[in-house]
Amino acid sequence: MTQPNNIVVIGAGIVGTSIAVNLLQYGSKITLIDKDTQTNGASRLSFAWINAAGKTPFDYHDLNRRSMEMWPRYGQSLGTNVGLKLGGTVTWETSDDRATALIQKVERAQSYGYPIRLASQSELQIHEPNLVIENVKAASICEIEGQVEPPRVIQAAIDKIIESGGEVSLGESFESFEFDDTNHQIVGVKTNNRTLPCDVVVIAAGIDTTEIGYKANTFLPQSTSPGVVVKTSPMPPLLNGIVYAPSLEEYGREVHMKQLIDGTFVIGEGEQSSKNTDDSIDNARRLVEFATQYLPQLGDAEPRVEPIGYRPMPLDGFPAVGFVKETPNAYMAVTHSGVTLAPLIGELASIEITHGVSTPQLDAFRPNRFNQDGTGGRKDSPSHTDDNGQGIH
Ligand SMILES: Cc1cc2nc3c(=O)[nH]c(=O)nc-3n(C[C@H](O)[C@H](O)[C@H](O)COP(=O)(O)OP(=O)(O)OC[C@H]3O[C@@H](n4cnc5c(N)ncnc54)[C@H](O)[C@@H]3O)c2cc1C
Repeated sequence: MTQPNNIVVIGAGIVGTSIAVNLLQYGSKITLIDKDTQTNGASRLSFAWINAAGKTPFDYHDLNRRSMEMWPRYGQSLGTNVGLKLGGTVTWETSDDRATALIQKVERAQSYGYPIRLASQSELQIHEPNLVIENVKAASICEIEGQVEPPRVIQAAIDKIIESGGEVSLGESFESFEFDDTNHQIVGVKTNNRTLPCDVVVIAAGIDTTEIGYKANTFLPQSTSPGVVVKTSPMPPLLNGIVYAPSLEEYGREVHMKQLIDGTFVIGEGEQSSKNTDDSIDNARRLVEFATQYLPQLGDAEPRVEPIGYRPMPLDGFPAVGFVKETPNAYMAVTHSGVTLAPLIGELASIEITHGVSTPQLDAFRPNRFNQDGTGGRKDSPSHTDDNGQGIH
């Protein structure tokens, strides 16, 4: 394969920008477009927890683990503070059945070689002194997990692409592809205002990847997975890392929270990617009140509503990354847990695109595993999809 001269990347979320930034080092001309000026996809509305503890089977867990380890290097390469903090995750349970499930999760992660451990109530309290932690039946600490702030990551990556001579065009929308005479090779990307010549096109358009894929004659089925996180007014520093606290009868599902570098709290509920479509102020108030049961200082925080975020979610729940066979110069990258996975996907995709190799880490996650009728896909399912088709990060 000859190295491509012109590469067009569609989608400036955390995945598309990571691929574009990684591509810079190989000398191709990079053009990154996004239909939004604020890049309002899943990345901005994410809880953005960098994690692998609950992820199965092993190959999917390992993909996430490798990417977690790459975050410090990726964050540093962007040359600015992107809110990366590997402050650990604390979790506890107060009911017998949930405690058993937590212990099993910890044991399985340990069998993968993952440094998570069961902990006592007092250990948790030392890790997060401001939390109210009571009636613990089981608890765990994972020191290597953490968080990042996708809007900062995306902006830093965009700045770097521009500084390095690439083009970034926000507010420019993909419309169609121009094919060569064989109808298999894309030669141009038509947008709302021009046609961009290209040797390779990267489709990293989140939930819209399916529709754009159709226009490249390929089919990548996705399920719909809405989620809501709530933010607050900035607060003084109160948390060291990510907190997963148990459900309470009057509030329902468990609550998770973290604090951003400007003091803002980000709060979600349920099994991390449980489906949620309530973006009302009443729901925001309820969630902050719920979190306040565990962190009383949050009582002074003002809730802020965030729109519903739609997680990119290939139908079997696993990432879909690679060239597609119907159109061999179209490269697709669509995944849940894209915040955790962005550094690894960016690095591997850029090598595959420019050098024509096929990296083994991605072999089990290729887009062409689905049939045209939506069947196919992997027969196992990742642990971030529960029996109701709901997922976690
Ligand atoms: C509520 C919620 C919680 C989450 N929590 C976590 C978590 O804790 N940890 C984790 O790792 N992951 C989490 N995720 C998942 C993670 O946020 C996503 O996997 C990740 O953001 C996907 O990034 P992306 O770049 O692929 O997609 P996106 O961020 O959606 O970016 C795609 C971009 O493509 C652009 N686009 C679409 N169509 C076009 C077009 N026609 N022309 C030009 N541009 C186009 C869009 O405008 C968008 O900016 C969560 C997601 C949600 C919604």
